[in-house]
Amino acid sequence: MDFTSLIRTIPDYPKAGIQFRDITTLLKNANGFHAAINALAERYRGQGISKIVGIEARGFIFGAPLAYALQLGFVPIRKQGKLPGAAMGHDYDLEYGSDRIEIHHDAISKGEKVLIVDDLLATGGTAHAAVTLVQKMGGEVVECAFLIDLPDVGGKKRLEQAGIPVFALCEFEGD
Ligand code: AMP
Repeated sequence: MDFTSLIRTIPDYPKAGIQFRDITTLLKNANGFHAAINALAERYRGQGISKIVGIEARGFIFGAPLAYALQLGFVPIRKQGKLPGAAMGHDYDLEYGSDRIEIHHDAISKGEKVLIVDDLLATGGTAHAAVTLVQKMGGEVVECAFLIDLPDVGGKKRLEQAGIPVFALCEFEGD
């Protein structure tokens, strides 16, 4: 399936110069959404993975049905202050300023194999922070999976240089 044709590009959102890759057009397409989850499920079935970690918010949309399809546990990584229980956090730099993501301190056990899921890989800052959190807990990140990679922005290179394999269902040129 050609996933790129199901993803809408909105120029200058949320600010001038950004080409926003809008996955809602894929989500509302029954065959497209189903095919995306199936493609990921086929790739990760039988790999010894025990948890899918989804990054707020769009990583939940793909991570949760993938966990269900593979009969695995699902763990949310959330923005600061959203998790109700004791959490571990990691700060990371954005283009302007910084951000913090958090995970429940008991979400992952030592030695567990984990797949991290988000909708889109740009600079890799968010995914790298998620990898750091999972590794701090003793989890092993098998791969980071995305619907979309923007290879020109460099996130894939960054994660691979950190020893983390990356997979995406489709790519868009440019940023
Ligand atoms: P990054 O940390 O730079 O890899 O950014 C990844 C996060 O920002 C993902 O969770 C995406 O949802 C969002 N994002 C970054 N760039 C775009 C874009 N061009 N279109 C849609 N979402 C984006």
